[in-house]
Amino acid sequence: MTRTRMGLAVIATGATLLALAGCAGDSSPLPSASGRATTGTQAPGQAPAQAAPDKSCNPRASLKPTGTLPQPGHMPAGSYMAEIQKRGRLILGTSQDTLLFSSRNPFTGKVEGFDVDMGRQIAQAIFGDPDKIQIKVIAYDKRVSSAMDGSVDIVADTMTANCARWKDVNFSSIYYEAGQRVLVSSDSTAKGMDDLGGKKVCAASGSTSYDNIAAAPSKPIAVAKAAFGDCLVSFQQNEVDAISTDDTILAGMAAQDPYAKVVGPKFTQEPYGMAMSQKHPEFTSFVNAVLAKNRANGTWTATYKKWLGAFGAAPAPPAAEYR
Ligand code: GLU
Repeated sequence: MTRTRMGLAVIATGATLLALAGCAGDSSPLPSASGRATTGTQAPGQAPAQAAPDKSCNPRASLKPTGTLPQPGHMPAGSYMAEIQKRGRLILGTSQDTLLFSSRNPFTGKVEGFDVDMGRQIAQAIFGDPDKIQIKVIAYDKRVSSAMDGSVDIVADTMTANCARWKDVNFSSIYYEAGQRVLVSSDSTAKGMDDLGGKKVCAASGSTSYDNIAAAPSKPIAVAKAAFGDCLVSFQQNEVDAISTDDTILAGMAAQDPYAKVVGPKFTQEPYGMAMSQKHPEFTSFVNAVLAKNRANGTWTATYKKWLGAFGAAPAPPAAEYR
């Protein structure tokens, strides 16, 4: 059976993940692009649509935690955490089609994954109850604006912390180190982006991945879709030749499509942070205190094992950097 007959993606089982997932390779950094929304298709040879990479900051350095963490249920008066406590739930912005990080479990109807657990751990710290969370599914190109306009308290959505985005939102300290790779048909001879010149390569609109495809020296044709799930459907219908995004997202896709494989090393660094409004810097410091506690007490490692244990032993959690 060929890939064209596959139809829509199916949800993977844990066993499929074990069999198919691949996560390896060194990072050799390409410029991390703006990540601002870009749509449509870029013709081969056309100038990349995005501005020059912004290297004006250290995107990994976040706001330092201050003082000791307040007890759950006792958020400091006047703080944004107290507002959330009063509301009775934390509002988390994320996606619902990123298997392992944030995807809807077809049996429970709930959105779950590593990113969702990052949010649940913040709810735990505020309320003493990880279930006091409302999940809002947002498009990739709405991650920055949703954090800015307060429609969500926090975004945890395979989101790369970069300088362009730091201009509009605060990021937490880094909670995961990803990198961009390429997914092609299992019968493809392509070994990476260098072999995809003139080929259609899909990524989500508003993702750093799209910008990196558009800027690739081999000049692939960058195709933007609203979500990576849409890229997978286009790939399965032979509308695009490849998908390129973070290794994390591609591993989840490969697990859903036995006619797909992930090739080549990581060719970018995509450090994930949770995004928040800049209006409440105390909330960013609080989130960083929770992350620091959870790195130290083994919660981060347990979360890694729960969602990504199929890829092998958990690495050390990313070290926090502060500005
Ligand atoms: N991590 C990249 C980004 O934040 C690409 C994947 C994604 O869109 O989540 O843009």
